[in-house]
Order: sequence, then structure tokens, then C-alpha cells
Amino acid sequence: MVAFASLKCIIISSLLLPSEAFAPQSNLVNKKVSESSTSLAGVGKVVNRVKDSLLSKERSREDLKIGIAGFYDRSSQIWEEVWGEHMHHGYYVPEDRTDHVQAQIDLIDEVLKWAGVPEPTGDNKDELPKKCVDVGCGIGGSSRHIAKKYGCTANGITLSPYQAGRGNELAKEQGVDDLCSFQVADALEQPFEDNTFDLIWSLESGEHMPDKEKFVNELFRVATPGGRIIIVTWCHRDLEEGEEGLTKKEEKLLAKINRAYYLPRWCSVDDYVRILKENGAVDIKREDWSYIIAPFWKAVIKSSLNLKSLVGLLKSGFSTQRGAYAMFLMLRGFNKGLIKFGLITCTKPKE
Ligand code: SAH
Repeated sequence: MVAFASLKCIIISSLLLPSEAFAPQSNLVNKKVSESSTSLAGVGKVVNRVKDSLLSKERSREDLKIGIAGFYDRSSQIWEEVWGEHMHHGYYVPEDRTDHVQAQIDLIDEVLKWAGVPEPTGDNKDELPKKCVDVGCGIGGSSRHIAKKYGCTANGITLSPYQAGRGNELAKEQGVDDLCSFQVADALEQPFEDNTFDLIWSLESGEHMPDKEKFVNELFRVATPGGRIIIVTWCHRDLEEGEEGLTKKEEKLLAKINRAYYLPRWCSVDDYVRILKENGAVDIKREDWSYIIAPFWKAVIKSSLNLKSLVGLLKSGFSTQRGAYAMFLMLRGFNKGLIKFGLITCTKPKE
């Protein structure tokens, strides 16, 4: 039913989208030819956009970057209102837990534990992270949690100006603005010196990166020797021996998700491990946590069934509505074993 409602929203919104182009006739009468050709160009742009969307066409890098910023600018507020400050999956052990926000916080703690980052005991300060970078930070939920947990600094980067502003606002509200700061910056060209951070944290942002090699190279560059890198990201399944790529049907499903969530081509956990090895990473560890996060999408879909979410969704515009529809595609991808929730960690070698 929600799928149908979302679909309806998408259709209505895509019909509404060209509204600027279809300005009222009375306004057009006295306008110069150049202006009407501008408006025609506007119609053309919208038509192309709708066509690309229907054909699930891959976006160019520039479109992707602008699209990601706009998508999170528009959707972060409604997400925060319904789900709070963490924009990622939850840790569903036991599988029937319903405290979803706590499940998201637990995911951070469980990933840190899995990656071998020590728990603070009161007398192990030297072993704990001191400087963390949160690459693709959302509104900074992970950064603030990590900063409070270890007493370390956390610098978050995001493409969305709204998210960076909201991240700083929340840091102030929560009394950690001396430790945390957020800014707009590209993960593929980070505004940090080499060898700066001893904890590199990237939670569900790698899937947005159009150049995985450059992404990993940057994570390596800003890590201190001996620093720990943690990447938690959506991947496609590893390819079987002899397989050259995914099936056409699998590619088609991912292409639709890519249009909705502003994603480029996917890669596998095997691909990440290969790139990490090429960078000289040591202590590489990987795991598939798809089964641990599985109940999450069903919970998100259920949460969107209340009036507040539906009204918010109606107001939030086409791309957020398409994002809501794509939840069902994600669910299908996970169920088919095509989409994996991949964890990868390693350390940068001490020179
Ligand atoms: N890690 C956060 C947010 C995940 S949403 C959390 O778990 O709450 C994905 C985030 O990745 C968004 O903040 C988006 O702006 C960011 N992102 C995507 N591509 C990026 C890029 N090239 N550079 C920096 N941030 C990027």
C-alpha cells in the first residue's frame, strides 16, 4: 500500500515538476522571444530528467555530486524528525528488537568492537582514538557518539550544506562543539593534511563514491601510520569464480536504486579488499552483516505508515518520495542476496 502511495506521489510530483516551465499564459504574452526559448529549454531539461529517471540512466559525476547534496539537503530534516540523528541501519540482535534508535547506536558500538577499537575502561586512555574523521557524516550522529565515547575530536565531512550546519548545531546543543565540527567537503578530495587521523570512520557513505580507488586512497592518505580505517557500506555480492559481472536483472534493479539514492555503479567487498591491499593495508578484516541489519528496512517502511511521515513525505518533494519507493527495491535486493551490508577494516602500516 505504501508502495502504491509513494508511486502516486512520484507520479503527481513528476507532473508538477515542470511547473516553472509551464508559467501562466498571461505572464508570457509580453515576454521576449529569448525568455520563451529559455522556458522551452527548461521544459526540455525537465523532459530529459523524467526520461533519464524512467530509463534509470546512470548520472554523470557532476550531476551525482550536486544531486547528493540536494537529496540530503531536502531529506535530512524529515529523516531526523522520524528517526533521529543517525542516518544508517540498526543492529538487530536479537532480530525482533523494536527499539530502533538504540539499534542504530548499538550498530556504531558493535562495529567499533568488531574492528578492534578498545572500549574505554577508565585507565586505557592511551589506547583510545584521539582524532577521528567521519567521512560522509550525515548530520553527525556517529561523530558525536564517538567523541563522547572516547573523548576524542571528530571532524565530519558531507556534501550537504544543510547537514553540516545541522551537525554543528547539534554539537552545540549536546555540549560537544569543542570536540566536533562539520563542514562541506568532498571525500574524494579531503581538506586535511596527510597522516592526520587515527580513526577513519565511513558509515554508509562509500556507496555514493563514484571512484572507489580514489575514495580508499584518500582514507589512507589522511590516516596516521598505525591508524584504523573502518568502512561500512552497501556492496553488491562478490562475483563467483568465472563470473564476469552481475546478471542483467541484477544490474537493472541496482540502476533503479541508483537513480533514487544518487549512487554510482556498485562494487563488491572483494573489490574493496583488493583496493586496500593495493594501498598496502595490514590486518584486513571483512564481514557480511546483511543478516544483522535485515529487519531495518521493514521497520523504516512501517515507520512511514503514520500520518506525520506521510504528510512530511508529501511535502518533501519528488526525490525524497522516490527514495521512499526505493526502500522496497532495497528490501528486494537484500532478500535476493544481491545487496550486502559489508564491513571492512584495516590499519595503515606503521612506516
Ligand atoms: N554516516 C552518516 C550519514 C550516511 S548518509 C550516518 O550514518 O548517519 C550518506 C552521507 O554521505 C551523506 O552525508 C552524504 O552527504 C555523504 N556523502 C556522499 N558522497 C560524499 C562525498 N563525495 N563526499 C563527502 N560526503 C559524501
